[in-house]
Amino acid sequence: MSGNAARVQAIHQITNREVMAPKPSERLEEMWAENVFNLSKMQASLPKAVFKSIKNTIVTGEKLDPSVADAVATAMRDWAMAKGALYYAHVFYPMTNLTAEKHDGFISVQGDGSVISEFSGKVLVQGEPDGSSFPNGGIRDTFEARGYTGWDVTSPAYIMETDNGATLCIPTVFVSWTGEALDKKVPLLRSIAAMDKAARKVLTLLGNTEVAHVNSSCGAEQEYFLIDANFASQRPDLLLAGRTLFGKAPAKGQEFDDHYFGAIPERVQVFMQDVEETLYKLGIPAKTRHNEVAPGQFEIAPFFEAANVASDHQQLIMTILKHTAKKHGFMCLLHEKPFAGINGSGKHVNWSVGNSTQGNLLDPGDSPHDNAQFLVFCGAVIRGVHKYGPLMRAAIATASNDHRLGANEAPPAIMSVYLGSQLEEVFEQIKTGTVTESKQKGVMDLGVDVLPHLTKDAGDRNRTSPFAFTGNRFEFRAVGSNQSVSGPLIVLNTMLADSLDWMGNRLETELAKGLDLNTAIITILKEVMETHGAVVFGGNGYSEEWHQIAAERGLANLRTTADALPTLKEEYIEDLFKKTGVLTPVELESRFEVYAEQYILSIEVEAKLVISMAKTMIYPAAVEYLSKLASTIASLGELGVEFEKESAKTIANLTNSMIATTTKLSDALAKHDFVSTEDKMQYCAQTLRPLMDEVRQYADALEGNIADSFWPLPTYQEMLFIK
Ligand code: ADP
Ligand code: MG
Repeated sequence: MSGNAARVQAIHQITNREVMAPKPSERLEEMWAENVFNLSKMQASLPKAVFKSIKNTIVTGEKLDPSVADAVATAMRDWAMAKGALYYAHVFYPMTNLTAEKHDGFISVQGDGSVISEFSGKVLVQGEPDGSSFPNGGIRDTFEARGYTGWDVTSPAYIMETDNGATLCIPTVFVSWTGEALDKKVPLLRSIAAMDKAARKVLTLLGNTEVAHVNSSCGAEQEYFLIDANFASQRPDLLLAGRTLFGKAPAKGQEFDDHYFGAIPERVQVFMQDVEETLYKLGIPAKTRHNEVAPGQFEIAPFFEAANVASDHQQLIMTILKHTAKKHGFMCLLHEKPFAGINGSGKHVNWSVGNSTQGNLLDPGDSPHDNAQFLVFCGAVIRGVHKYGPLMRAAIATASNDHRLGANEAPPAIMSVYLGSQLEEVFEQIKTGTVTESKQKGVMDLGVDVLPHLTKDAGDRNRTSPFAFTGNRFEFRAVGSNQSVSGPLIVLNTMLADSLDWMGNRLETELAKGLDLNTAIITILKEVMETHGAVVFGGNGYSEEWHQIAAERGLANLRTTADALPTLKEEYIEDLFKKTGVLTPVELESRFEVYAEQYILSIEVEAKLVISMAKTMIYPAAVEYLSKLASTIASLGELGVEFEKESAKTIANLTNSMIATTTKLSDALAKHDFVSTEDKMQYCAQTLRPLMDEVRQYADALEGNIADSFWPLPTYQEMLFIK
């Protein structure tokens, strides 16, 4: 089948497809967490003392009493087997943003050949996957390639149902035999512990007598594209790189906003319902669903949860979106820029910290005391973003996110904080020492207290800020679509831990001098604003002007991953992670290596794809059409050949240029003499990427000049608008 015949057939299949009948909806209460071994199921099946012990570990993060593991394992196995599971899997989260699993059977063969089911506490607590296939950034030599998985008691086990049966899944950490973290969960748990410790000290200094364990929360909004699988299967770029490497912009893009406000197409609705039911059964509180700006783009957002659980759930959401899409004849794209010129997908990580005694610490609250507390935590965040902005940038640096950050379309690669006009004014006044009155009526209550009274207000929205305060949380808007949220959460928690630690020490010093609490707070916040206030920005982050202002303020603008990742090698970053106990220098170094390698590999794969698609799909189509034109010209003789001749010339020139640039790209790819990883990353960013874009330019121009019936790839118009 020639390229075009396949396209035509795909369109035929799609337009004649029957929408899968929606499943009869079960009642939410019946579905909810049906497949999760949660606290209530544990309570029902465990002896009282065992339940109490494990609940304590889950709630406080305290060490698990090893003696309870056997009882929990037995209860968990019985529950899982009753639900049809014959296998269990330790699920872990390697540094590559993926989810990995090692499956084992419950079955155990006895000496006499009979079988029993076996699942002991020991097996629950620790597993040994073949770690050698996961990148470790040089931590393990192959002869000691073992990695261990360890049960994360704080994230509930669940049953994953697939067409191949049910599997009991146990969230775990993944460490080397020498104890180094090889995954994203270990440092996340450590960052929460570090933040908890520093936060509790500050809360105590602020006069709270009862202070519970402080945890961080996360609600992640996930954007995605759905493309019909019939089209996707004809695009090697979508299949292998998750984005289109070629494609002329359609006559109509997203400029009418009609997609955003339009009804969700029926086929997509049925898909969404299927996704949500699966999520509900897994106890994942999917809450909002809507169309996004671009045609074919949608969003799903679960209700926020404890960061560690939210992170595991986010991984599951991505997996389930992809699997369910397949079932419904779609391909789900989690890429920051799958279609050039059309809005890409991101992930917004909503983040806050709090506990059961003081509540959400990023919520202004009602009393002057709560307000003071809020300002301290907010000030700590401002200091963190200013000090560690480049680290935040590095935490979201991937080859695919480079199309979204620092590229033509924002968010920009400059890290700044948006506070909203009210809060920005308060901090501005603290800085200038003029906390006397406010332009906004009702905002300040300065009666006896030196501290301002804040009104609760969701705040105005600034969608151009990479990191915005949204009333009771911060929203990190620049996170990549297919990224694990753990990386960004680790950085946010760690920098907050560092800032709170600093705040705690400063508070102690000021209080020792005899200052009253409120004056001490104002003194410290003033200092924070004087040193770090430059990071606060309320204007348009997408404007050219901001680049200028940010440079004057000394804020880093790390446009590419090649620019951003070396931050991980800076001494002050190493100190931060060491001091907070979140990552050892060896673990940090290994992360740099893994992320850099991933970046380089992604670009090399794309470059190879560009070469092969240009040569084996686009070039043949151009030549075929050209020869058709040539015979038309010959057969027309004297009749109106001018247009055909011009057209043939254009196509011949574009084809020649495309092939010449493809050759340049091939040669460039062959270069091997790099002095360092940093050097190689820069080469990918500065040489390979631009050459790929150049090949694409010629190819896209060809698409505009060749008869549609000759074009071998499903077009943007078809992929985005036919459902
Ligand atoms: P929007 O699109 O306006 O940003 P959404 O409702 O789509 O808002 O998503 C907001 C996300 O923020 C949800 O996941 C929500 O649960 C989460 N969220 C709300 N409050 C908090 C909080 N205190 N801490 C963390 N996340 C929160
Ligand atoms: Mg949002």
